[in-house]
Amino acid sequence: MKVLVINCGSSSLKYQVLNMTSETLLAKGLVERIGIEGSAITHEKIGLEEKFKLVTPMESHKEAIEHVIKALTDSEHGVINSLNDIGAVGHRVVHAGEKYANSVLIDDNVIAALEECIELAPLHNPPNILGIKACMELMPKTPMVAVFDTAFHQTMPPEAYIYALPYKYYEKYKIRRYGFHGTSHKYVAERTADMLGVNLNDLKIITCHLGNGASVTAIKRGKCIETSMGFTPLEGLVMGTRSGDLDPSIVSFIRDKEGIHLHDVIDVLNKESGVLGISGVSSDFRDLDIAVEEGNERASLAIKVFAHKVRFYIGAYIAEMNGVDAIVFTAGVGENSANMRSVICAELGNLGIKLDLVKNKVRGKETIISRDDSRVAILLIPTNEELMIARDTYKITR
Ligand code: AMP
Repeated sequence: MKVLVINCGSSSLKYQVLNMTSETLLAKGLVERIGIEGSAITHEKIGLEEKFKLVTPMESHKEAIEHVIKALTDSEHGVINSLNDIGAVGHRVVHAGEKYANSVLIDDNVIAALEECIELAPLHNPPNILGIKACMELMPKTPMVAVFDTAFHQTMPPEAYIYALPYKYYEKYKIRRYGFHGTSHKYVAERTADMLGVNLNDLKIITCHLGNGASVTAIKRGKCIETSMGFTPLEGLVMGTRSGDLDPSIVSFIRDKEGIHLHDVIDVLNKESGVLGISGVSSDFRDLDIAVEEGNERASLAIKVFAHKVRFYIGAYIAEMNGVDAIVFTAGVGENSANMRSVICAELGNLGIKLDLVKNKVRGKETIISRDDSRVAILLIPTNEELMIARDTYKITR
């Protein structure tokens, strides 16, 4: 069975088609600037060197998906003969609130539940829902599955997800910690068990998803017990442009000092902070590495603050789980930056965490990078959220 995976953003849409009998990727692509001048689709048939690129107006997500379907059925670049060849569609959805702890087959009730969650994820859920509705219109007979970023974290115990606010705010508004990147954390945890040849139920794992957005998760016996992102993806680690944890009083202090609106302060925390804010150089760690080489001290400070916060969470999660068997690095920075991994793991030997600096000289491939005498295994695992979405979609619709 072939599964189409859709990940809809506000003005972009990523997709993949996988053959789930063999779990092979057949095609992938990206539509950019939906509803903006210069809309374009870039499509890649796996195994074909030349990519297909088309710049054409696309006013809506529905038009974007029509172009995806054209590319997928194209005589040269296509991977299916007709839409009937797609057995199911899997949609990435960011927020399911407390409603779903697992992926679900989409029906009208599910859509209504996702619409209820819009206030929890105003930037993410609306385009996710648009993508689902557009696919349902274009492929009315094809089953669709929603796979949620928040689902994996629903196993957190109340002491991990309740904020110390008046409890009525949890009851009235569902203000609590939810956590994100769940599909990625779950994928790398499962791969860790496979790579170590140990049952997931016998492992305590700390997964570090370090990309432009970043989060750390504590996984005990296959279940998330704590994660660093909270009510929104702003809490936790320092990120590319997001501040992560800070004293909430800073928000009104900046508002008063700068004479700006509250929502503008939140914008600063989301878009102008993190390593970009500290360094003043870039949110991209590659640019920071170059700036450090050129002697830029604030770029160097930004990297140290980022690493400090990851180590801080690793320590906290070792305490929460009473130990750790494996630490995993994934996502853009985690997969590619040997330097960042070595700064994070430096001087953790007393905790049994010993990085092998030679094995660590690697990028983007599944491998164990701890020393042979390290009690804790350190792994590098490229994440694959699309495969996870396709697997759940296949399992539910098969
Ligand atoms: P993601 O959000 O997972 O796509 O990760 C994006 C981030 O990965 C960007 O901020 C890049 O700085 C970072 N990244 C990608 N390649 C490298 C690299 N070779 N070295 C350091 N950081 C990298």
